[in-house]
Amino acid sequence: MRVGVPRETATDERRVALVPDAIARLDGITVLIERGAGTAAGFPDEAYEAAGAELVDDAWQAVDGVVKVAKPTEDELGKLRTGQLLIAFLQPLTDRELVERLTAAGVLGFAMESIPRTTRAQPMDALSSQATVSGYKAVLLAAESLPRFFPMLTTAAGTIAPARVLVLGAGVAGLQAIATARRLGAVVSGFDVRPAVREQVQSLGAAFLDLGVVGEETAGGYARELTPEEQQRQMQALEERIPDFDVVITTAAIPGRPAPKLIPASAVERMRPGSVIVDLAAETGGNCELTRPGQTAHIGGVTILGPLNLASTMPTHASQLYARNVSSLLAHLAPGGELKLDWEDEITAGTCVTRKATPT
Ligand code: NAD
Repeated sequence: MRVGVPRETATDERRVALVPDAIARLDGITVLIERGAGTAAGFPDEAYEAAGAELVDDAWQAVDGVVKVAKPTEDELGKLRTGQLLIAFLQPLTDRELVERLTAAGVLGFAMESIPRTTRAQPMDALSSQATVSGYKAVLLAAESLPRFFPMLTTAAGTIAPARVLVLGAGVAGLQAIATARRLGAVVSGFDVRPAVREQVQSLGAAFLDLGVVGEETAGGYARELTPEEQQRQMQALEERIPDFDVVITTAAIPGRPAPKLIPASAVERMRPGSVIVDLAAETGGNCELTRPGQTAHIGGVTILGPLNLASTMPTHASQLYARNVSSLLAHLAPGGELKLDWEDEITAGTCVTRKATPT
């Protein structure tokens, strides 16, 4: 089987779908890597060659499949052929048009967002691996913007109180943010609507913030979307509690839905000058009413960061983890380099979002 790894063309995308180490581990698969594909992530062409990949000018030509990070652009869509395998973040829940076009083209599309959140699929779970990166980086961004220390310091010039950090949404990114903020010495609280999370937050040494709102977990492990009344109650409770914190990191998300609004503008008004909000849900509209996706807003002395694609800002490790996810999926779909698709298998069936329509 021949698999192509193209250079990512999306703006600010510095990751690459396979790194040299992952290529060396692929059994029965020849990898064609586009020249320069790994450069921005810190993996030079020579490292790929040494790992056994073929360097090419166009990784979409003469391959059975293409693996990449971002969904294909208009130009790239035109290069795909019927029966070809495509593995990427295809955004199947939010980009129906792409799904329809890939289906019409007969492309065998596997979406990295659709990997089931099960123990067996853990090595392929790219949402988790990339959320780990963004949760960590969110804390570093907050620390950089905060005009205060994170840790408590006792110095000859006086004692500095530790920063108080609140993490809203304690899934993979949120738990990583809690752990990172703790390592930097902050006093951390966390909140999530899924009841099971309380213990996970506490086991990281953070306090669980009781807002009096308890949601449910769906069969897939995700949170159910709150009703408008529950959401209203959550916003009111947060408005009361938010002025206690120097940093608020928000990560709340419901797959395929706009980000739930947690922080009303009125709560931002009550925060102390110098406080920082890092809104990791900016990509789907933001958890704070005042977030401007992709920008930094300064409102009444409060800094609100709405970073997009944070994982791409740490491309070496983000790519290393993503490559492990992709190569595990490849090995699952094509053991020994031969495509063997078992539609009874929950990983194969759950992750495949487009394929050639079979005549009935
Ligand atoms: P996500 O990115 O979809 O959402 C982030 C968090 O926001 C979730 O914890 C969710 O409960 C929370 N949230 C949603 N609405 C909220 C609201 N109104 N207020 C506060 N919080 C809100 O989630 P994720 O990080 O991708 O994780 C989803 C689930 O998958 C979690 O249960 C996680 O533990 C589980 N998971 C399981 C495995 C596995 O078993 N292999 C691997 C990874 C994740």
